[in-house]
Amino acid sequence: MSSPDAFLAHVRQELDQLDQAGLFKRERIIATPQGAHVRTTDGRTLINLCANNYLGLSSHPAAIAGAHAALDSHGYGLSSVRFICGTQDRHKELEQRIARFVGCEDAILYAAAFDANGGLFEPLLGEADAIISDSLNHASIIDGIRLCKAQRWRYAHDDMADLARCLKEARDGGARFILVFTDGVFSMDGTIARLDEIRALCDRFDAMLGIDESHASGFVGATGRGTHELRGIFGRVDIVTGTFGKALGGASGGFTAAKREVIELLRQRSRPYLFSNTLAPAIVGGSLAVLDLLESSTALRDRVADNALWFRQAISAAGFEIKPGTHPIVPIMVYDAVLAQRLAARLLELGVYVVGFFFPVVPKGQARIRVQLSAAHSREDLERAVAAFTQAGRELGILK
Ligand SMILES: *Cc1c(COP(=O)(O)O)cnc(C)c1O
Repeated sequence: MSSPDAFLAHVRQELDQLDQAGLFKRERIIATPQGAHVRTTDGRTLINLCANNYLGLSSHPAAIAGAHAALDSHGYGLSSVRFICGTQDRHKELEQRIARFVGCEDAILYAAAFDANGGLFEPLLGEADAIISDSLNHASIIDGIRLCKAQRWRYAHDDMADLARCLKEARDGGARFILVFTDGVFSMDGTIARLDEIRALCDRFDAMLGIDESHASGFVGATGRGTHELRGIFGRVDIVTGTFGKALGGASGGFTAAKREVIELLRQRSRPYLFSNTLAPAIVGGSLAVLDLLESSTALRDRVADNALWFRQAISAAGFEIKPGTHPIVPIMVYDAVLAQRLAARLLELGVYVVGFFFPVVPKGQARIRVQLSAAHSREDLERAVAAFTQAGRELGILK
């Protein structure tokens, strides 16, 4: 066999192995905008409980109008990275607005939050420094840290004693600067980081704190500013990264917010910023319209908080075990991977779109259905969803 043929045979074998292990991901094709209800290409309308569309803004008229206006006034694309000829007045405006929204001095835009995290650590820290991260941090944080020469520590998820151990070891080891970095909200469990305690520990060891607010910006905290608002440390986080691809409109784009000088250094050295195209004007316009909406009213974040509370209570009363909490991510624990997949498949037949999560996305024996509530869901949607869960749960013997 020639080497390209051998390679293709190898790729086929890898795919077969994924399939046999039950790990092959099949994409379902949607023929409508994103929303509380979606229609698949086979013509079925489903209640959607698996989008990151927390505020229901993915297809909101205000976001669409903002994007249309920007298309008309600022064009389709810039055909340039930011520092050559790809910076418009609206990019600067969005950077100022998102920085203010998350309580920082300045911000820098990226094509995605994955890039924000990928380009964050290497420009700022070096061999003399230490990065301490939660063991369940998002893949993009893990990759970003890998690209940086700083020494690394990992603490057990949400374990403050273990974080203190890491801080002490890094300090005693003579680290110049120490950065603790964590997801604000962890996407598989809906766990909300204890940022008040983490900040206090950072202060004790003279360390900086950075958070990724992808599952928090726009709806966590009394005015939706994020996990730091909820935990009472708004304005006291050194670095905030986040996405425009979830609650804040759901299109795409990411950001890093921090002190002015830190952002300036990222503009000089952050590789995904220097070597990748500028954010499209329509997304900038849509994101600005979303921030206008969220700064003028808390109605949508109140709505999703209400829906989360109602659904958590109702699904528990139906007899399902959930991970306790308040976040609109509601993990419904099934434990067994095959059973989780059968439950998701049956729910799909019953008109409820959910996905089973199992190893390696979550630990072995911790399989679950992850429900995500949205401000776009009506109470009737949620009642129908709980009824479908109850029926499927009984049929599969999960409920007695
Ligand atoms: C979704 C997510 C990202 C990636 O966001 P994109 O803008 O889609 O690249 C990064 N970090 C966390 C914690 C996320 O949940």
